[in-house]
Amino acid sequence: MDYELNDEQKGIQRAAEEFAKGEFTKEVGLELERNHEYPSAILKKAGSLGFIGIHFPQEYGGQGYGILENALTVEAFCRRDSGIGVCLSISSFASEIILRSGSDAQKKKYLIPLTKGEAVSAGGFTEPDHGSDITQLRTVATRGGKGYVINGVKTFISNGKIANFVIVLCQSDPQAKPPYRGHSTFLVEKGTDGFEVSDLGEKMGIRMTSTTEMSFDQVKVPDENLIGTLNKGFYQVLEFFDESRVMVAAQALGMAQGGFDRALDYAKKREQFGQKIVEFQVTQHKLADMATQIEAARCLVYKAGWNFDQGRIDPKLTSMAKMYAGRVAVEVCQEAIQIHGGYGYMLEYEVERFYRDARITEIYEGTREIQKNTIAGALIGKKG
Ligand SMILES: Cc1cc2nc3c(=O)[nH]c(=O)nc-3n(C[C@H](O)[C@H](O)[C@H](O)COP(=O)(O)OP(=O)(O)OC[C@H]3O[C@@H](n4cnc5c(N)ncnc54)[C@H](O)[C@@H]3O)c2cc1C
Repeated sequence: MDYELNDEQKGIQRAAEEFAKGEFTKEVGLELERNHEYPSAILKKAGSLGFIGIHFPQEYGGQGYGILENALTVEAFCRRDSGIGVCLSISSFASEIILRSGSDAQKKKYLIPLTKGEAVSAGGFTEPDHGSDITQLRTVATRGGKGYVINGVKTFISNGKIANFVIVLCQSDPQAKPPYRGHSTFLVEKGTDGFEVSDLGEKMGIRMTSTTEMSFDQVKVPDENLIGTLNKGFYQVLEFFDESRVMVAAQALGMAQGGFDRALDYAKKREQFGQKIVEFQVTQHKLADMATQIEAARCLVYKAGWNFDQGRIDPKLTSMAKMYAGRVAVEVCQEAIQIHGGYGYMLEYEVERFYRDARITEIYEGTREIQKNTIAGALIGKKG
């Protein structure tokens, strides 16, 4: 048993913290959020320094590290700025499906620009009528000419406005029983005829990234845009969730730590009734609870990442990490607002933004309830 990160991992963590400290200033974060603007310049810089797709092999522009090292980077970024951190963490969203199941040509074409921070991807799984339950889909891919024709609608798709391409989960065999045995993933590039993206508008948090609806009207894609084997898409997506949920858990962990840092700093400076508010035992107890929750979340997140890197697929552990870290992020950021009093309610003190941003970690990539279903299913030995 060894609870220490190794020197290389500590170096990655330090480098990510230094980068974030230099680039994600409070003013930059507030401005980007206010303008709902994607941090493209920061993404490019992060890509040039090797922070994007750190867990991809070097031949595809990555650094050859694992999910744990990616989690360390994501945590450091989200600790400094929850909004910029999320954008950088999901700039290559769902591209792990290409990495695990795609052809060498697809990996070279799509992954290398992502790791350079010069392209952004999107993953289209959710539909208006199918959110938690993606076992059945209305988006269909039918054989047509020298490829496939896609029709349907995906909703809540992150990065949609700027993504260079989207990985779309489609029903490719309408006769399959159960239906998910007939799902496939396809690459659809921005600008393809019949492919439209529209913004879903204002939202509670993560405002730097667009959340969009994507419609596919007779969208033609060639055979080479099918990812991996036909009708294996559902399994590819589940495999992807095993790692992406660790990343969402790392986002949550970073946000919780970021909220805590700001609360501690504020409590040491603010005076009421002739003393610093950190001197009140109630404040100290709040900080003690927050720090304990964060430490417990960190143990789960690192263990889930490490476990995945050992080649052990354990959806129960991944779901525990995501569910717990998400809850901790929300609770800690809420307490951080309380410690700030009225100032915590104001944009300038950042904790209200961390709180708003943290809330998504309990919803996307499977809600808290869906994570509980996975955990409970494994505990009681329920199949599928
Ligand atoms: C900002 C944002 C970004 C997103 N980004 C993406 C993206 O990039 N790509 C993508 O494909 N999707 C994305 N999503 C969609 C997200 O993954 C879904 O919203 C989420 O999976 C829940 O689906 P739903 O909204 O349809 O809710 P529903 O599935 O309708 O759930 C409603 C409620 O019912 C509960 N519930 C549902 N089924 C069960 C069950 N079996 N047991 C217990 N409770 C249940 C849920 O937990 C929830 O509380 C994003 C969503 C948001 C808000």
